[in-house]
Amino acid sequence: MFARVIVDISHANLDRTFEYRIPDALVAEIGVGALVDIPFGRGDTVRKGYVVELTEVPEFAPEKCKEILGLSKGSIPIESQLIRLAWWMHRRYGGTMNDALRTVIPVREEVQKKTERTIVPATERAVIEEAFVENERKSNHARARILGALLEQGELPYSYVTGELKGTAAVIRALMAQGLIAMKEDRLIRGMSISDLSSGVVTLTPSQKEISEDIQTRIAAGDLRPSLIHGITGSGKTEVYLDLIHAVIAQGGQAICLIPEIALTYQTVSRFRAHFGDRVSVIHSRMSKGERFDQYERAKAGELDVMIGPRSALFTPFSNLRLILIDEEHENSYKSENPPKYHAVETAEVRAGMCGAALVLGSATPSVESYAKTQTGDYVLYQLPHRAGGGALPVVHTVDMREELRARNRSIFSRKLKDLMNDRLSKGQQIMLFLNRRGFAGFVSCRSCGHVIRCPHCDVSLKAHYHGRAGMTLECHYCGYHERMPEKCPSCGSEYLGVFGLGTEKAEELTKKEFPDARVLRMDLDTTSGKEGHRKILEAFAKKEADILIGTQMIVKGHDFPDVTLVGILAADLSLNGEDYRSAERTFQLVCQAAGRAGRGRTPGEAVIQTYHPEHYSLVAAANHDYESFFAQEIAFRNRMHYPPSGSLMAVLMTGEDEKRTERFAAGLAARIKRDYGEVYQLLGPTKGAYGKLKDIYRQVLYIKHPGDGGLLKLRRELEELVKEENAWQDVRISFDLNPTVVY
Ligand code: ADP
Ligand code: ZN
Ligand code: ZN
Repeated sequence: MFARVIVDISHANLDRTFEYRIPDALVAEIGVGALVDIPFGRGDTVRKGYVVELTEVPEFAPEKCKEILGLSKGSIPIESQLIRLAWWMHRRYGGTMNDALRTVIPVREEVQKKTERTIVPATERAVIEEAFVENERKSNHARARILGALLEQGELPYSYVTGELKGTAAVIRALMAQGLIAMKEDRLIRGMSISDLSSGVVTLTPSQKEISEDIQTRIAAGDLRPSLIHGITGSGKTEVYLDLIHAVIAQGGQAICLIPEIALTYQTVSRFRAHFGDRVSVIHSRMSKGERFDQYERAKAGELDVMIGPRSALFTPFSNLRLILIDEEHENSYKSENPPKYHAVETAEVRAGMCGAALVLGSATPSVESYAKTQTGDYVLYQLPHRAGGGALPVVHTVDMREELRARNRSIFSRKLKDLMNDRLSKGQQIMLFLNRRGFAGFVSCRSCGHVIRCPHCDVSLKAHYHGRAGMTLECHYCGYHERMPEKCPSCGSEYLGVFGLGTEKAEELTKKEFPDARVLRMDLDTTSGKEGHRKILEAFAKKEADILIGTQMIVKGHDFPDVTLVGILAADLSLNGEDYRSAERTFQLVCQAAGRAGRGRTPGEAVIQTYHPEHYSLVAAANHDYESFFAQEIAFRNRMHYPPSGSLMAVLMTGEDEKRTERFAAGLAARIKRDYGEVYQLLGPTKGAYGKLKDIYRQVLYIKHPGDGGLLKLRRELEELVKEENAWQDVRISFDLNPTVVY
């Protein structure tokens, strides 16, 4: 047996591994992650190294291979565990071991620190206003522009000041010298002064206390089954997390709390700060690699007890990790889109298992996968069905848009929504309108009966494809089935077949037309450059600078808006008819979350769901705030169709510059799988997938269904080997995604 060993892992380039022979006597003891003593370099100095891969076939001449001297003595460093985790990720999700190592081991990279700097006011508003007027008068245009923008927007990204506003460094320096503006570096951490911290330590309600204590009792008794807290938004899940973290810290342990990036707001972070002060740190995607590395180093050095952050915070090198929390565990962002395409919930379960830590998941709308595990007893379920601060859930009205059409209302606003909007506008209350990002996708539906044209083989909606003058076809992105766009609705014969997909821009235009006196804000990828942009729009809305906020999923999370008393979901169907098997789940989550935004303050809220499918179980359940009923129907669908969690699905993506070759490769691969595994695996495709071609790279997608993960993983490994051996196909790349959450 031979081992690939990395020497000096903290700084080294992870690609630099060295091969050593494992002495027979040590074969049983040495595994991936082991810290070993090795002879290194010309003088054979004894150094320490980590084993990152084992193999029976060495890359170099075996007789030239040096031997591992032995297992290194002493305590096992945290890196050993992370390397073992990387190995597991590599085996489960595919990709190279190096990809996996890069994901779990923070490597110091000598890159220029790129902090996002922000210009903020350094004095009272009145003083800045005065200076603004003064500079205008003196025709100091650059200064006036910056001050004006600052007054308008509260704060400005540095790059925006030097770019769009054409502020030179000299001008910025001058304004700073005058005490008008200041530079803030990382707003999540450094900008946080003690006065910002909400004193906010609450006494847990009896149900919160019960959950926290039960989890602690189970941990103490060695029952490390993961816990799932199903609690509506505002039910006080975060308070339970905080209580659990306190308990863990009291015993000298450390905790990681994963929060989707989009919910990682100033409010959230300051709540953790109020509890744990300097002993908590945050990791987020705007940090440079160097900054992230610094936070990991602090964690390793014992300067921290708690790390919060998105997916990647899972790899914080805490050596006495006792608790991993995952808030909003159903979020898609917990699945990595780069290799290894790991899921943070599954990976957290493995990391927790390795170090004997507890895993606690929380969500208002748990993923079908996680909830199913509470039914089998793999997870333990806890419920928080009421809002902590009292307050009722919003009243939800479902509006059948087919009725609107019959009543000759062709507007995007149903009569009900319009009435309620006018009512709120007259009371000076705020309104949020949701659209689905996937709305652009273009499914075809009958405006008269609501029938959606679906694939006969896959039970997903077909997508409209335009072919210039050749007309339109409808295609299935799963299996490639296609047909011509019918002239009439196959269900009722009406001619009102439409391609659906309302954009936010159009919605904004129509809203302004319908409510000319309302102040409207729109938030989508076009209006917002980067996360700072999002935050600014949300803050403007929180300050009541607008009456109506229109947006996509982006506006579902983050800020709390106490004055929002009405939420309108303009077209709930747009996600219902998404192209994959998770459509109903996503719709249910979106509608629950969107509706949950209404009535967070003192005034009770209302929500309006506009749909062509008022009878669809996901919408009925969402309107009734009834997760159990949704789950029961959804799991029945998954079971019937063998979709996860009732079976496993693997996407095989093949890409190449040559269309024909990529197609031939895909067809060949599919034929081979069919020949060798036809009995066991259900193959869908290959097809061009949802995109066909991206950036001049052609795509072919194959979906493989199987009753369990094991067989798929075995197949993937075999395919990986096969591809490695086939020199003739070097121009086609292949990658795998187990239980994908995205559509290829
Ligand atoms: P979730 O995480 O489930 O959305 P939070 O923990 O954020 O819920 O709680 C929602 C709101 O209720 C917060 O403002 C929080 O401070 C408050 N809250 C939660 N638990 C309590 C409690 N036991 N007593 C008083 N206020 C509470
Ligand atoms: Zn199909
Ligand atoms: Zn019809």
